[in-house]
This record gives sequence, C-alpha cells and structure tokens, in this order.
Amino acid sequence: MHTSTAVDLAARAGGVVRRTHLLRHGATDADVRRWVRGEVFTRLRDGVLALPDADPLIVVAARHGGSLACASALRAHGIWLWDDAARVHVWLGTSGRRHDHPGCRCVSHNDAGGTAFGIVSLVQALVQVAGCLGDEVFFAAFESAWRKGLLDTARRAEVRAGLRAGQRRLVDLARPDADSGLESILRLRLSRLGIRLQSQVRIAGVGVVDFVLDGWIILETDGRENHDGSSLRHKDLRRDALAAAQGFTTLRFDYAMVLYEWDLVEAAVLARRRGRPA
Ligand SMILES: [Zn+2]
Ligand SMILES: [Zn+2]
Repeated sequence: MHTSTAVDLAARAGGVVRRTHLLRHGATDADVRRWVRGEVFTRLRDGVLALPDADPLIVVAARHGGSLACASALRAHGIWLWDDAARVHVWLGTSGRRHDHPGCRCVSHNDAGGTAFGIVSLVQALVQVAGCLGDEVFFAAFESAWRKGLLDTARRAEVRAGLRAGQRRLVDLARPDADSGLESILRLRLSRLGIRLQSQVRIAGVGVVDFVLDGWIILETDGRENHDGSSLRHKDLRRDALAAAQGFTTLRFDYAMVLYEWDLVEAAVLARRRGRPA
C-alpha cells in the first residue's frame, strides 16, 4: 500500500487508525513495520497507530479506547461550553473496553454503538452532554450550536429524540438567536421561575437589547470579552440613559454573576419586577 493511502485512511478518523483497518484495505505487515520505523505513524498501543500531527485530544481518547465525545467533542466542533476542560470525555461504545494510559482522568461514555476513533457527531455529543453534564450545560451548548448554523430542523429533532423525556422541553425552549452562553443560562434559569423573556428586542434610539421583561425591564448580559475598556462602558451607560428616557429600567449582569452568583441575579430581577411603577 502507498504511504499516502495509509495516511489518508488515518486522517479520516482524526489521525488515528487500527492496524487491522490498514490491513483490511490492502496494507501488509511489512508496510506497517516500515511506516512505524519511518515515523509515518507512532504506535499508541498494540494495534493502534497515530499520525504524528493527530489532534492531541483525539490521541488521548484513542489511548483510552475510543473517540472524543461529549463536552470534548463539542469543544472540537467550536461550541460554547460551560464546563471545565480538564477532563477528556471518551465514547467507548456499548462493548468497548477502557484502556489504562498515563495521566488518565477521562470520563468514559458507553452509549450505544460500535467503537471508533476520531470525534463523535455533533448530535451524539449534544445528547451525551445532556446526560453527563446536565440541563444547563446542554441548553447553552445546544443554543450555541444552533446559532452557529450547525443544527437544522432534522438534527434538532434527532437530538430531542435522543434525550430522556424530562429533558426534551429544553429543546422546545431553545432559540437560534442567543448571543452568548450567558444569555442561554440566564433565560433558562428565569424560565424555571416561570419568567418568560422577550429576546433580542430592538428599541428605537437604543438598539437591540438582550432581553425585555414585562415590557419595561431590560436585562443585559455582559460577556467578559466584549465589555472591557472605558469606551464600551461609556456606550453602555449611554444606552441605559437612552432606555431610561423611554421609561425602561436596565439591569446588567456579567459572566461571574450569572454563573456563580445566581441568587443575587434572581433577587435583583424579582425585586425590580415587584417595584413596577404605577
Ligand atoms: Zn461526558
Ligand atoms: Zn483515559
């Protein structure tokens, strides 16, 4: 077999391939030995080979015995994720076996299917996240994927069907226009209090605000990366004044408050609601 054919076969699965897969496609034992000697492939363990430039996370997953899954797969798909990235999530399939490897802190997944290397599909990764990391992480990731144009109607239905019954309402609540994971989390948490928000509302003279509640309370979430610097602060203050001139009141919450000080956010929203002007 030509070296380039073997490299192509491996590249299709993120740079990791089984020796038996190469043999099935016409490589010989001598070919494989030659490629390992010539450093075309490195041996991850018996019978599993990787290209030297394979994605390091795909390599960790392969060492563990499967493919990059769940939160780790969503990150690889470019999806916003509210979860620390320290652990690698690996799909082993129904009958796959977990392999020991140095520094393993992986989270194993055993949902149905055969083992493979590479990265699981977006749909499968979303369903795994819902089961592994819960409603909020799933919801924000789902909206992030939809916003990026990665979830058409068929895929959304597929994700919904893969969730357990109690989580399907999350798909029904999701929208394609959440600007950030923070907005997703805020909307989901307020919905649990029975509060429905209007999203991405255009207010004449002000612009588009994240949310309007009860027709007069503006809720804005400030992502860490977008609101640094005094000129942006000036813009925000000006927006708030323009909105106030039209009878709106604005509450702003940043990343740390929404994610880690929710009690304060909730108290502020509820108190402001009760204080509706006559
Ligand atoms: Zn997981
Ligand atoms: Zn591991």
